[in-house]
Amino acid sequence: MKNFSTDAVQRAVRNSIVEWFNTNGRDFPWRSTTDPYHVLIAEMLLRRTTATAVSRIYPDFMKQFKQPEQLARANIRTIASMIHTLGLQNVRAQHLQNTALSIIEGFNSSIPQAFEELTILPGVGRYVASAVLNFAYHIPMPLVDGNTIHLMFRVFGLTFTGPNDQRAWDFMGSFNLGNQNRAFYWGIIDLVALICLRKSPRCNICPLQGVCKWTHENTS
Ligand code: SF4
Repeated sequence: MKNFSTDAVQRAVRNSIVEWFNTNGRDFPWRSTTDPYHVLIAEMLLRRTTATAVSRIYPDFMKQFKQPEQLARANIRTIASMIHTLGLQNVRAQHLQNTALSIIEGFNSSIPQAFEELTILPGVGRYVASAVLNFAYHIPMPLVDGNTIHLMFRVFGLTFTGPNDQRAWDFMGSFNLGNQNRAFYWGIIDLVALICLRKSPRCNICPLQGVCKWTHENTS
């Protein structure tokens, strides 16, 4: 993958995203906690919906289900009704409750720190497990979703087949993030939501303008 870009460009992209995020990043409740249970629930809710939609229901949800025990005991219809605005509420509610039960029964009510253990939990795949390691445990892990694929296409001209493309995971793993992993990945999410819009990217205010392949080729 290294032939797609140089280390210097990756470094510039990483630093620009982190710097931009530190000034312009959005403030969501799950970004100000490192409680692994709260981060895990946020990441499960964030799949296939927007951060803005989750931010509307997250505070009440966490107030009601502060600990895995409360979520495990809850009526499944109550869980589903609290998250219905996100869509897929029945599947999501079942995954959330089954995950709470697995945490209690399999991990003594603690959220595991090992990738292999996290992915045992119902509804927790590669992305959510890696997100929990990054955002709760400060362990730098590559993260790939639609946002990263979109931004890597725009900036580097890389075409990946989707979030399961191993080449995308390898490429994101080559950014050498150290302790900047949180700002880097949250920065990508916010840049795609606010600046690198799919239809009309706002290149004139983008921190990546100077290194971006797409803007170089599409604007004069
Ligand atoms: S310069 Fe434009 S196309 Fe490139 S990342 Fe920024 S907004 Fe997206």
